[in-house]
Amino acid sequence: MNAVWNGTPGEYLDFTCVLDRHCGCEFGVLGVRLTRCGAHDLTDDQRALNGLLYGRRLAATLRDEEWLTRRPAAAGRTASIPGERRK
Ligand SMILES: [Zn+2]
Repeated sequence: MNAVWNGTPGEYLDFTCVLDRHCGCEFGVLGVRLTRCGAHDLTDDQRALNGLLYGRRLAATLRDEEWLTRRPAAAGRTASIPGERRK
């Protein structure tokens, strides 16, 4: 990994588990890596790693909000969904 991991240790653990699951590297008899897979190539791409973290965190927020009919009120204001009628 030549890029910097900007996530939490827990997110890093999840990432390494996913890498292990989807690794397509080829190894020789002595365990020497012969070819490197696309999943491991990703570990050198800083922008891709940052994008993965962003998407992962955004997905949780979107899942939480998926079935909300109203947006949470922001500090004393009430917000409405565009197109929603006010009472
Ligand atoms: Zn691999």
